[in-house]
Amino acid sequence: VFQLSLPLNFLGSVYRELRQSLIDMDIMFNLQSMNITIKDTPDVKPLIIQGGEIRFENVVFGYHPERPILNGVSFVAPRGKKIAIVGPSGCGKSTILRLLFRFYDPQSGSIYIDGQDIKKVTLESLRKSIGVVPQETALFNNTIYHNILYGKINASPSEVEHAAKRAQIHENKTSMFVAHRLKSISDADKILVLYDGVIVERGTHNDLVNKEDSLYGDMWFSQEMADPILDEEYGENQEN
Ligand code: ADP
Ligand code: MG
Repeated sequence: VFQLSLPLNFLGSVYRELRQSLIDMDIMFNLQSMNITIKDTPDVKPLIIQGGEIRFENVVFGYHPERPILNGVSFVAPRGKKIAIVGPSGCGKSTILRLLFRFYDPQSGSIYIDGQDIKKVTLESLRKSIGVVPQETALFNNTIYHNILYGKINASPSEVEHAAKRAQIHENKTSMFVAHRLKSISDADKILVLYDGVIVERGTHNDLVNKEDSLYGDMWFSQEMADPILDEEYGENQEN
């Protein structure tokens, strides 16, 4: 589906991170082009961004309610901070982003941006406020260009460019990263470790890696150990 032109010295791991973000965007696009049942409720207002604090409060969600994926997820992504969600494949990381875009509504709990319940704002204003950009700025080639999700599938090239620039230059910006490879997010202000439907650990890389019996620590050291082998043998593995 995606064609990428990459510099030859591009590292495999970086490529995979990038590809992961493209896959995530692809998934979100497919969802958006499908006729999803989420609609504006009566009396919605436009979202007013005042820094971009994201708050999940006790969010419970399953694609099939009898099989919950998120089982009471609560966290705050403070304005302007870099937040990373990590955890095993299939634990629900991308689901958190899909809920933030309101491709689905939680079965219970709420999601707030700058104190406004995302169910009570217009979908258009919500999705316009959230930029999805690949982590590598140099790679705004045509393909990626067409895959920037900025509220509008039929955005004009200049609108997309504007969106991408805005997403990158606005320092006050809150960013959420979904990562499988921990190295790419070890500088985050807050790392959330998702496991079995709940956030089991949270903190900076240093907090988590030094904690005794930490899942993050286990993941970190096993990735460090396995890296060269993974790069060779499982390079094609992808998450979605
Ligand atoms: P992660 O991003 O952490 O790898 P996801 O959020 O993509 O995990 O998926 C979490 C779980 O939800 C997985 O078990 C996945 O198979 C399931 N899932 C994802 N999308 C759907 C869907 N559209 N319908 C049913 N199950 C889904
Ligand atoms: Mg995913």
